Amino acid sequence: MAKAARELWQALGKMVRSAEWSEDDRVLRFRGKIYVPRNADLRRRVVSLCHDTKVAGHPGRWKTLELVSRDYWWPQMLRYIGQYVGTCDLCLRTKPIRQAPVGELHPLRIPDSRWDTLSVDFVVELPLSSRHNAVMTVVDSVSKRAHFILTHMTVTVEGATRLFVTNFIQPYLHQFFDDSHGLKASLKALKKTF
Ligand SMILES: [Zn+2]
Repeated sequence: MAKAARELWQALGKMVRSAEWSEDDRVLRFRGKIYVPRNADLRRRVVSLCHDTKVAGHPGRWKTLELVSRDYWWPQMLRYIGQYVGTCDLCLRTKPIRQAPVGELHPLRIPDSRWDTLSVDFVVELPLSSRHNAVMTVVDSVSKRAHFILTHMTVTVEGATRLFVTNFIQPYLHQFFDDSHGLKASLKALKKTF
């Protein structure tokens, strides 16, 4: 357990509370999930079980994550699984395109000014810090300036909308009516995200 805790400490940059660990039959668990140590072959085999087998049937990364996280856990497993699924040879060669033909490709409209179009994304599965384990990132399409808002992986659509309003609309409300350099946040980006 000490070795795993040390490894986690290195990965997460902070100590983990020992109450979150348990051990039975020489299986180390973190919050009830089997902890997979930092061993590339071991982690690959676990993901392979939940992705490559006939029963699994090469699901996408979210489904694969769901299957893996039913029983296993390790730091930054989402990133690992994303890379695994994204580079799965069979998936790349055989995944049918599920959406209707997209027709002609139209380039995105070039925003008129900064803060005209924003993109919203979430970085999840971060080590818990002050009850936060996810970051909502809001990026301006023109300047690429990013804002980071601490949140939690269980945040709802309403919660995320509230975060956006509190952090982006309210502070700049007075600028909305100032066309020269106001924040004309296109809620299109937000709508697309949610
Ligand atoms: Zn695959």
